[in-house]
Amino acid sequence: MADPMPAPAFLAALEAEGLIVVQEGAWPTRNRDHKGPWGPVHGVMVHHSVTRGTAATVRICRDGHSDLPGPLCHGVIAKDGRVHLVGYGRANHAGLGDPDVLAAVIAERPLPPDNEASTDGNRHFYGFECENLGDGQDPWPGVQVEAIVRAATAVCRHHGWDARSVIRHLDWQPGKVDPRGPGLDWADIERRIAKRLGAKTPAPAPRPVPARPVVDLSELVKAARSNPGLRGTPVTYAGVRTVEAALVDEGLLAKRYSDGHFGTTTVTAYAAWQRRLGYTGKAADGIPGRASLDRLGDRHGFAVTS
Ligand SMILES: [Zn+2]
Repeated sequence: MADPMPAPAFLAALEAEGLIVVQEGAWPTRNRDHKGPWGPVHGVMVHHSVTRGTAATVRICRDGHSDLPGPLCHGVIAKDGRVHLVGYGRANHAGLGDPDVLAAVIAERPLPPDNEASTDGNRHFYGFECENLGDGQDPWPGVQVEAIVRAATAVCRHHGWDARSVIRHLDWQPGKVDPRGPGLDWADIERRIAKRLGAKTPAPAPRPVPARPVVDLSELVKAARSNPGLRGTPVTYAGVRTVEAALVDEGLLAKRYSDGHFGTTTVTAYAAWQRRLGYTGKAADGIPGRASLDRLGDRHGFAVTS
């Protein structure tokens, strides 16, 4: 449990780790605090931005986009290793994640698989978006990786946290893949953070590879058949979030409809996925079938049971 450090302390902590920090305008007061709480803080979350070029990355992370208002993080870590401060306070970077993961971060123990999306991460994590296309091919320069190590270390040092307080977005929210790409070795980053922190205890043990989230086809079909007729947006099956995150990543569903409710918009988006696979007519009615769901799971890292 820790109160977020004041903005000047955040800046000073980053500079004290030897980082080159670029202050983007009124970053200390740019936040989403009117939408919810910021703090207590428990850890640091690292992302890739899915953007091209530092200027565009900074602009998008500062201002957000039509589906998601900015700021989208606190610091943007550019490919040249500079850290651009775009906001401070509550920021739209972490979304809803797994309460068991949060408990593990607080306790600084190994993380369980993330299979729930129910806990407000924007409240509890410092966020760094790293300039990268996120396609698994875009390489991570050494200077950028070093900046990740130093930025995470800066926050941990201030709060007295260890390297286990630093997690990836993919550790937090089912369906997320960030950060990834050649040159990004997370176990190595954790070791380097621990070393910079002067850990007297051994570096954290490698984390088990998170189990893939599992989506139950019959539960999903039940949700797809019942949810459009329900009033409001109740969530009847948690696995819907995993499928919606995949549809968002496919560009078929606007992020604001990724709400765990398999409503009309999600049915329409799923039908578009079925058509993309070549299905037509009744076979593209937006109610998931085994083959189309398997294909979506293969592409977005979830398993299917029925
Ligand atoms: Zn992310």
